[in-house]
Amino acid sequence: MRVYNFSAGPATMPVEVLERAQSELLDWSGSGMSVMEMSHRSKEFVGIAEAAEARLRSLLGVPEDYAVLFLQGGATGQFAAVPLNLAGPGATAAYVSTGAWSRKAISEAEKYLEVRTVADEAPTNYSTVPAEGSLQVPGDAAYLHYTLNETIGGVEFPYVPDAGDVPLVTDASSTILSRPLDVSRYGVIYAGAQKNLGPAGLTLVIVRKDLLDRARQETPAVLDWTAMAGAGSMLNTPPTLAWYLVGLVLEWVEEQGGLPAMAVRNRDKADLLYRAIDGSGFYSSPVEASARSWMNVPFLVPDPALEKPFLEAAAEAGLSGLGGHRSVGGMRASLYNAMPIEGVQALVDLMTDFEKQNG
Ligand SMILES: *Cc1c(COP(=O)(O)O)cnc(C)c1O
Repeated sequence: MRVYNFSAGPATMPVEVLERAQSELLDWSGSGMSVMEMSHRSKEFVGIAEAAEARLRSLLGVPEDYAVLFLQGGATGQFAAVPLNLAGPGATAAYVSTGAWSRKAISEAEKYLEVRTVADEAPTNYSTVPAEGSLQVPGDAAYLHYTLNETIGGVEFPYVPDAGDVPLVTDASSTILSRPLDVSRYGVIYAGAQKNLGPAGLTLVIVRKDLLDRARQETPAVLDWTAMAGAGSMLNTPPTLAWYLVGLVLEWVEEQGGLPAMAVRNRDKADLLYRAIDGSGFYSSPVEASARSWMNVPFLVPDPALEKPFLEAAAEAGLSGLGGHRSVGGMRASLYNAMPIEGVQALVDLMTDFEKQNG
């Protein structure tokens, strides 16, 4: 029996993808072996890898002058890779602080350069994003970094910040592929796979090619975008199984109608849940309406003592992964691409019942 899994990541996968992987597990396409047993240099695996990149380029509309890298080390690895690849020692970079993940990106970057925090949403307890047009980016900044979607706080940028001529860098881990994205506005987009792309173990980096060839001498080879781009992301053994599974997820997204179709589905799912929260007088959202995430929806019950009974009732109803992040408590429902609207409806039904019994 499968449950509706609202976990923030690793997260629910499309059941069609799991079934396909199951059917190909022992013998991939007549090769007589599993993908996880193949050499990454084999014709078969190189074909799998290239097909995944081509699908990603087509789905996201990645322009020709961008490199697409399939790396390891997670988004956390990229917190270090970004300063190492884009700025020399003593440089300054601009960061926007909208919550837990941007703060982690900032403290990692501080090991390598001077961070100028150009907006900090701490005064609203990270329930907002800076107003559009309000960012003052110093002209000498090596780049401007922001977190497109704060997975823990549930805050998502509804616009692309204007960084002028300064390269724009974003952590898109928990929102990539949830709706169309204008890649050409960015210098670098990176994302860990385990939210919306597939299983853990793979990190996607999309980098404009004119930003290559700037890495510091001491950059570890596995974090060096230029070296990795030159080696087709196979400077060392890549996470082959995760790469293959991400390819299957991309194929699934294509079959659903691509990113415009995902956007409609994801907006409908988020609307359904936010309407239930706002209409109840029992549940509440800690996030300002204009900055609410479509992917991660934190919500509160009126008394923290009701959290445990809520999660127990949810588990009974086959709804899993609804506890808020350990740093903030409350509830959080992650509504990634693979979560069907039926799952969100089941959550809303549970919330209505729970409110009747406890309101
Ligand atoms: C999950 C997440 C991370 C951390 O990813 P790791 O793969 O654990 O390094 C970073 N940023 C955001 C926005 C995330 O959602």
